[in-house]
Amino acid sequence: MTNATGPSRVTRLSVSVAINPTTFHFTLPPGHRPQFAPLKEELHPAFGWLTKNRARSRRRDVFESIDTIVIHATAGFATEHAVDTWKERKASAHWIIPDENEAEHGHFIWATVAEAKAAYHVGNVDYEPILGEGPNVNDRSLGVELVNTQNVEYYRDPYSLWQIDMLARIVLYAWAKYPNLKHVISHASLDPSRRTDPGENFPWEVFKDKVLTQSVLEERHPLVLAASDKSVPPDTDNLNLAVTDRAGHCCEP
Ligand SMILES: [Zn+2]
Repeated sequence: MTNATGPSRVTRLSVSVAINPTTFHFTLPPGHRPQFAPLKEELHPAFGWLTKNRARSRRRDVFESIDTIVIHATAGFATEHAVDTWKERKASAHWIIPDENEAEHGHFIWATVAEAKAAYHVGNVDYEPILGEGPNVNDRSLGVELVNTQNVEYYRDPYSLWQIDMLARIVLYAWAKYPNLKHVISHASLDPSRRTDPGENFPWEVFKDKVLTQSVLEERHPLVLAASDKSVPPDTDNLNLAVTDRAGHCCEP
């Protein structure tokens, strides 16, 4: 990845052959979940308002129900344009990845809606042929917005390498955290008649490779790795029992 401090050092990714964004979909291989995948996120100033006013409670438990992560692009130049649009309309997503012309680029991503809530990032679509049986897309998913014009009005806006790295890190973070996460998919694939994001210039194969090889993960602190080596309770429905046995005493939660 780049440690860009100014626009001159930003690496942009040009796609030699445009690919139909309605084909952007892959599944995460079972048994390869990363154990740790920290995320360098900052809460956007509108995080609380958006979580309260542009999201709702999930109809099922968040830990169990998340099986999909949806990739969007804003079709604009700036994070604030996207947030303003969300405030005006009934829309939102869980994270925004700034564009290379923004000060935050190269430093951190914005968390915009709490993961526990269902953000309003996918409209009414026939999702079961793609995702399989399950709750509504917004109930079962997390949504990520990349700030990118998607070449609207012939304005060329290649995605930056940092944006793709951060997107891959979000997927790995979510995969580590939510055991049923399986689908990584574009908004265009879920809603092909109405949406094209993240656009035909999104480097899907580069992104997919970064997720599946987990090459974008940073090294964890040695103390965290040492803690992970200690025994954990068996993966059982009766977790309370396992905890009680380990502690040797106590109690209802
Ligand atoms: Zn979208």
